[in-house]
Amino acid sequence: MNITSVLAIHAHPDDVEILAGGTIALLARLQHRLTIATFTAGDCGSHELPPAEIAVMRKGEAARSAARIGAAYVCLDMCDLAIFNDDPSRRRVVELLRETRPQLVLTSAPSDYLCDHEAASALVRDACFAAPAPNYQTGAQGAAPPLEGIPHLYWMDPVGGEDREGRMVEPEFVVNVADTFLLKRAMLAEHASQREWLRHHHGTDDYLDTMERWTRERGQRAGFSYGEGFRQYRGHPYPRDPLLQGLLGDLAARV
Ligand SMILES: [Zn+2]
Repeated sequence: MNITSVLAIHAHPDDVEILAGGTIALLARLQHRLTIATFTAGDCGSHELPPAEIAVMRKGEAARSAARIGAAYVCLDMCDLAIFNDDPSRRRVVELLRETRPQLVLTSAPSDYLCDHEAASALVRDACFAAPAPNYQTGAQGAAPPLEGIPHLYWMDPVGGEDREGRMVEPEFVVNVADTFLLKRAMLAEHASQREWLRHHHGTDDYLDTMERWTRERGQRAGFSYGEGFRQYRGHPYPRDPLLQGLLGDLAARV
């Protein structure tokens, strides 16, 4: 079987785990090559620690989570609530794509409750378009060569399955993550600093339980005990063949 290079990229540490952790654990089990990337190190995610200290802690947590499935972890070192779809940021994301060379990219939904999630989504979409263009220069030292083509692009669910105004966002298909759910939970548990933060700021008592309820709810949409939803972005000229669905076979069910 061909090995596919997969990049799962979202705004903050723990977003990938919550929304796609079971799916990327399945892909890792199938021997595909995984990179988890975040735009920020989650520097605002603490009531007690200053930005530089919490950022270091959270990068460590994210790297330990990625290591559980043999994935690499990369942080783009942008700041929380300061991800913008601008020229330098797009060039930075293109350089990441050229360094990691994915055929398959999973990223945040275009409409979500948080500005960072939406900006990340637009940046990744547009960077996927730009990454194969040889005249698009990133300005990075030792810049990587352009991609051979635009990668297959998928959106994870928005947080809670809702857009910014509370409308439900239906996934195109749901991945059965029953076999990797415990691994997903263990990955998320590595983000220990977030339990306390979410209790303070979001009023969420235990974010592992919140994730579990959500993953169960998404699974039920397709008759699975646990699931994660995705939509494939098929805008011109992005690839439209169902690469991710093909890699997962019966584990991916249309809803
Ligand atoms: Zn986030």
